[in-house]
Amino acid sequence: MNQNLEKIVQQTLAEIQSAGLYKEHRVLESRQGTNVRVNGKEVLNFCANNYLGLSGREELVEYAKNALDKYGYGLSSVRFICGTQTVHKELEKKIAEFLHKDDAIIFTSCWDANEAVFATLLTDADAVISDELNHASIVDGIRLCKAERHVFKHRDLADLEEKLKFTQEKRLRCVVSDGVFSMDGHIAPLKEICDLAEKYNAYVVVDDSHATGFMGETGRGAVEACGVIDRVDLITTTFGKALGGANGGCIAGQKDIIDLFHQRARTTLFTNTVPPVIAATTMFVLDFIEAHPELRAQIWDNTNYFRAKMIVAGFTVPQDVHPIVPVMIGDGKVASDIAREMLAQGIYVIGFSYPVVPMGKARIRVQISAAHTHEQIDQLVATFASLGKKYSLIS
Ligand SMILES: *Cc1c(COP(=O)(O)O)cnc(C)c1O
Repeated sequence: MNQNLEKIVQQTLAEIQSAGLYKEHRVLESRQGTNVRVNGKEVLNFCANNYLGLSGREELVEYAKNALDKYGYGLSSVRFICGTQTVHKELEKKIAEFLHKDDAIIFTSCWDANEAVFATLLTDADAVISDELNHASIVDGIRLCKAERHVFKHRDLADLEEKLKFTQEKRLRCVVSDGVFSMDGHIAPLKEICDLAEKYNAYVVVDDSHATGFMGETGRGAVEACGVIDRVDLITTTFGKALGGANGGCIAGQKDIIDLFHQRARTTLFTNTVPPVIAATTMFVLDFIEAHPELRAQIWDNTNYFRAKMIVAGFTVPQDVHPIVPVMIGDGKVASDIAREMLAQGIYVIGFSYPVVPMGKARIRVQISAAHTHEQIDQLVATFASLGKKYSLIS
């Protein structure tokens, strides 16, 4: 190995270690679900994006087996050569309808969708205005385009308006926000964002990855919950969270814009097609969630139940509504110690500390699923309560 490279890599790893930021993988020895096996032990999982509990669910596995028989395993092609099967077209139609748009284009991940969504449409004549806490894939997607970049303070409409005014001379202005922000479970003020965009003639992109499938009256996402599903120009989202949890993502919008992505987006032109088993099973999931509204009811019931119990127990839990529930701890080391002790007591959660969240705002991020039972949530709260006392977080 090249000596220079070796030295630099070792130094960097040592820095990551000494900052306490080194990530060990905790290996699951089972399917994903509310109960998983880690280190030979059954634990309750409260850190998956498995909002509707579909990831390990038998109906999906059975459907996927049939889809494998029907469509085969892989296509060995990008979409435009020989990598488009009926199932890809069908999913694009179905997810577009689901998101109230004309059309959609699927990608192998929402990451790839976000890499496509800016660079395909924006040039150096344009401007993009992005919330400071937007997902890393949006940050990188913006890096790939030549538009002038502006970042507005998190959910700060006055700052957004300032940036919209400042960019009035540009050919196009694009405002982009996560629908839900993953570290806090904050929901973006999408109605106000759409109002401002309209006032200043900008178009709006929302990445609804943490909301598609379960937020809003019919599960269309934060765009539905905020009443703007028909106002946002483009929605990007993932199939890797609530919608079965494998992978894949899409951009949904007006037909001619989607057509342009098929013509120009580099993350579809130069990369392999979505495996048909995933496309087929994602369609199955869209039908499944339509047929099972009780899953949506259950996730909100479970989330409210957990939030209320934690507040009664004396913990600091921000006043939000999303199943991402940050339990504020403060000190980074305490957060990771508590998470470790919780795992030993059969509860799998993760502590987040600086630089992922601001200094002094370390937290344990709990994620509730429709598949959790109230008894499991009681167990989670009881474990938090006993460790909260031990670490003097509550009295
Ligand atoms: C998880 C997530 C992504 C990435 O989705 P993948 O399909 O896993 O690439 C993109 N954006 C947001 C907001 C996310 O939360």
